[in-house]
Amino acid sequence: MWQDCYEQKQIAEFLHRSIQNDRLAHAYLFAGAAGSGKRDMAVQLAKAVFCQRGDGNSCETCENCRRIASGNHPDVHRVAPEGTRIKIKQIEELQKEFSYRAMESQHKVYIMVEADKMTTEAANRLLKFLEEPPKGVVAILLTEQASNILPTILSRCQVVAFPSLPEESIVARLEEEGVRPGLARAATAVSFNLVKARELCEAEWFAQFRILVIQLTEDIMERGSYALVSIHDKLLKADKAVDEIDLFLDLLVVWLRDLLLYLLGRESRITNIDQMETIARHTVRWGQRRLVNGMGTVLITKNRLSHYANLQLSLEDMVLRLQEG
Ligand SMILES: [Zn+2]
Repeated sequence: MWQDCYEQKQIAEFLHRSIQNDRLAHAYLFAGAAGSGKRDMAVQLAKAVFCQRGDGNSCETCENCRRIASGNHPDVHRVAPEGTRIKIKQIEELQKEFSYRAMESQHKVYIMVEADKMTTEAANRLLKFLEEPPKGVVAILLTEQASNILPTILSRCQVVAFPSLPEESIVARLEEEGVRPGLARAATAVSFNLVKARELCEAEWFAQFRILVIQLTEDIMERGSYALVSIHDKLLKADKAVDEIDLFLDLLVVWLRDLLLYLLGRESRITNIDQMETIARHTVRWGQRRLVNGMGTVLITKNRLSHYANLQLSLEDMVLRLQEG
């Protein structure tokens, strides 16, 4: 139902009204970051077009709604890259299928994901299709990179821009999916993106990184040089990819920020809410000035690594500076 697309309420209402007023465009381009809800909205639009209740919404129970939900409706086609590209052969097959079925049903919908991955030949063939749309056809193109779509195709589409979801919405969605609140918040705080945050929540190394961050800050305060050992054993020897190290540093900044927020009495804004006892304990030992300096130190390290500084030296230097406060 359109109500299920509450995270992009304005777009849902706009499309709902368009169906009710019989003013659907021949072609839409849904443009927005991964996780902004483009795919769910495209499926919802298809359901609303075909729902047997015919009131511009979807009932979720009729045969059409159910077949579309399971990706199994004869008049709703999905086009996705084969390998890395969408090829001209796929567009030709789509055209053939649609002209063949033209007599049988009133509507046809195709949903093309990653439309920016079309080869030039495929895009030119699609353009012809868009210029002479068969009656009742609705095209829904999805992209994270609208700037990579041919301007001639863009001009044939109604472009619908999907804003990225706010942090609270991503966290709420992950929690609905059964992710533990502390993990959901941490993954969101370092990705700002539903799809990426979901991937992080499913990755074991990410959960281990959260534990390692807490251990590291504890070692820095209490066990001196042991902090260097754990950096060596858990990060350097483990041969982590640079972008994983970068995420580790992001988690470290988020953790130090949590300690600072606790110190300032802003507990409702804390990310690692499943670690309140540890946060309370660490905060006392770090102190405000040291936390602020520490966050700066980690951010400088991130910056160095983004300029290809030596990984081992940069991390060791960071730990020593954090120890000095
Ligand atoms: Zn229905």
